[in-house]
Amino acid sequence: MTRKLSLTVDGKNVAVHLHKGDLPANVAFSGPIAVDSETMGLSLVRDPLCLVQLSDGGSEAHLVQLDRASYDAPNLKRILADPNRLKLFHFARFDLAMFMRDLSVVCAPVYCTKVASKLVRTYTDKHGLKDLTKEVLGRDISKEQQSSDWGAPELSDAQLAYAASDVLHLHALKERLDAMLAREGRTEIAQSCFDFLPTRSALDLAGWEETDIFAHQ
Ligand code: MN
Repeated sequence: MTRKLSLTVDGKNVAVHLHKGDLPANVAFSGPIAVDSETMGLSLVRDPLCLVQLSDGGSEAHLVQLDRASYDAPNLKRILADPNRLKLFHFARFDLAMFMRDLSVVCAPVYCTKVASKLVRTYTDKHGLKDLTKEVLGRDISKEQQSSDWGAPELSDAQLAYAASDVLHLHALKERLDAMLAREGRTEIAQSCFDFLPTRSALDLAGWEETDIFAHQ
């Protein structure tokens, strides 16, 4: 079941498609896809995955409200695991762990704007999506609905607009961050970090969440 809404997201009019259960088979994306997810909380043990948002960089967002009893979403899973489709995230490490745990898919290949930001914006410790988007793109985004009840059967328009917002700036961020990575000679090390992310998420799920296995101690 799909509902199409026209919502104001960060001051712009955006077509938001809310799908219950799975992405319809006929939804076509072009190029890399920005992906984000919403959960009941930040615990990899306790908090279930509720919503997955996708956008191919246009002014549309597709939101998949998952059936938490089955997580039966073959079309969504196929896209997340598609080796020929780059997925853009902000802090991929968490979303990838959730996808592994609840959807049983390894999401790859990926690009993470938070990792890229940490590798080039060494002059700041503000790497949250709001601060990054403000500095790099000059755009203001709202984080007001971040802590809200994503497990509710009916999500509010404010929640849907917030969820869509999180995938609408990642393509532009990638473009700017890629230029900064190239300028600083860090493109290759960034790529190696992105390639390692599914393993980092697997370590989180396997009990090494708080441990840096590369640390001396
Ligand atoms: Mn989000």
